[in-house]
Amino acid sequence: MGADRTAPSCPMCDEPLFKRHCKYVCPTHGVVVDCSDPFTF
Ligand SMILES: [Zn+2]
Repeated sequence: MGADRTAPSCPMCDEPLFKRHCKYVCPTHGVVVDCSDPFTF
């Protein structure tokens, strides 16, 4: 939300996401977004 746009955060808990392979992974929620998702940060 208010975070650096280069460091996307989880839409559910606002934790910073890890970028793994082609996916963004929340430490709590698991994979939140992958590269095939139409929603992009
Ligand atoms: Zn989360």
